[in-house]
Amino acid sequence: MVTAFPTFHEYAMAHTCPTCKVKPGEPCNAPQKIARRKAMNDLRARFGHEPISEPSEALHMTRQTVGIRHRQRDIAAAPWPEDRIPGQRYDTLGDAS
Ligand SMILES: [Zn+2]
Repeated sequence: MVTAFPTFHEYAMAHTCPTCKVKPGEPCNAPQKIARRKAMNDLRARFGHEPISEPSEALHMTRQTVGIRHRQRDIAAAPWPEDRIPGQRYDTLGDAS
């Protein structure tokens, strides 16, 4: 389903990370975050729980902030919700997302 705006994660991934400098589309080079996440999911699996599915958790906070700002700019520039055409996107991420 097409939504008017991509997710926060898609916005963050569309930017170069200010902290670890990875290119858009590449996961952050954040070994501690990745290790912490893996440890948490291994523990969850041992107790029969699903893994955590929040992908932005493994991104640097600086990159998430850039993505949030970009998403807010797009929302501010878009028509009011009642004036939007259903199924149309109003983001400025292009085809990358
Ligand atoms: Zn990063």
